[in-house]
Amino acid sequence: MYFCVRDDDTSFFTAPEELERAYGEVMQWGPVSLAVVPFHRAGTSKAVPEKFRGRGSVHPLHENRALVAYLRAAVSEGRFEIMLHGYHHDEPSDRAEFSMGNDLTRKIIDGRKYLEDLIGASIRVFVPPHNTIGRRGLRAMVRAKLHLGCVAGFRSGWSPFSHATWRTWLELRRWRKIDALGIPWILDLGDHREIAANPITPLSSFESNKRIFDTILRVEGVFCAATHYWELSAPSINSGEPTVGEHLRYLIEWARKDPQVIWRSVGDVLSNSSVF
Ligand SMILES: [Zn+2]
Repeated sequence: MYFCVRDDDTSFFTAPEELERAYGEVMQWGPVSLAVVPFHRAGTSKAVPEKFRGRGSVHPLHENRALVAYLRAAVSEGRFEIMLHGYHHDEPSDRAEFSMGNDLTRKIIDGRKYLEDLIGASIRVFVPPHNTIGRRGLRAMVRAKLHLGCVAGFRSGWSPFSHATWRTWLELRRWRKIDALGIPWILDLGDHREIAANPITPLSSFESNKRIFDTILRVEGVFCAATHYWELSAPSINSGEPTVGEHLRYLIEWARKDPQVIWRSVGDVLSNSSVF
């Protein structure tokens, strides 16, 4: 089984110490794939500190020099992978940034180049804010030759004219008859690939993530744990379940102790055709 860790919302507002506290130790066992916002707009995201929230001001990543230096060093050592997480992340209208809009191709191309030049990383994966992408957003992403860090589906732009779409749809339908939880492999849509995220947030069920992990281990698939560094100390809404950080830590412990598990970055898993 392949295992990867995805963390969202690194931006101008992130202190290097927050990432180091979350992943400094974890990265000795495997890489962490960071979904990074190039020009964060201070809207309603909980990743934005309260004193900036709702202002609407735009904050380019390069203005946080300590963070850039920290990311450059960690990327060059292969500890972090950088993925593109929207452009502004927060929209004034509060709708998901890549659900619609006219300039999505420019945002993806400019945002990617900006991060690649700034951090010295090569970006292979797009993670839309709120895991929400529309037809135009998906087309823009495909044009930029990136893979998707979540699953789009028919309603979000899978082409009904593509053979790969229908093959994927049939495989998923067959799988859902066996197991209703999780998607255990990389989806190959022909012009790009998609990886399902298994969210680790206060709303996530530890029991169901454990079941998904065990199932994917059995079928030798891919498990991507997706979380937010700024939420790791938050308690679960399910009584008796671990905090977000403890939840993630359990998964990491299972992954690193099982000899069947191969820990890779999200981009490596999506780019490696021998994975599926
Ligand atoms: Zn986000």
